[in-house]
Amino acid sequence: MRCPSCGYIESKVVDSRPADEGASIRRRRECLECGNRFTTYERLGDNPFVITKSDNSSEAYNRDKLFRGILIACAKRPITPEQISEIVDNIERELRSNVKNEISSKELGDLTLSYLADLDEVAYIRFASVYKDFQNIEEFSDALTAINK
Ligand SMILES: [Zn+2]
Repeated sequence: MRCPSCGYIESKVVDSRPADEGASIRRRRECLECGNRFTTYERLGDNPFVITKSDNSSEAYNRDKLFRGILIACAKRPITPEQISEIVDNIERELRSNVKNEISSKELGDLTLSYLADLDEVAYIRFASVYKDFQNIEEFSDALTAINK
C-alpha cells in the first residue's frame, strides 16, 4: 500500500471500519515516511475473515480449503464443482453480512452443513463427521434426524 504522496511502501493503520455494507473495509493509513494520511478500501474477497479455532488459535479464512473440504465430502456424489462454488459463494456472502470479520471454525462448519443438508445427505454426513467431531452417538443420530426432516 504505497503512500500516494511520497511512494513509501510502509504505512500504519490509524482507523478501520466496515464499508460498502460490510463488503469492504475502509482504512485510514498514515505513511511512516512523510506522515501523509490516506484512505484505502480493501475488498473482503481477498483476505476476508479470521477463523478462530477451539484451541484459541486462529488462521485466515481460505476459500480453497473450504472448497476442498466440501469437495471431499461430495466425492462420488452427483454434485458438480459449480454447485460447490455456489455454496462457498453463499457462505462468503453470509459471512460478509456479519459486522465482525471473525468466525469460529465451529460456526463455519455449521454454516457449511446447513447448505449441504439441502444438497446431499451423504455429503452432509461426511462433512459433519469431520467437522463436528461427534462426541457421542446421540449427536450423530440428532444429525441424522435433522437431515431426514
Ligand atoms: Zn508518504
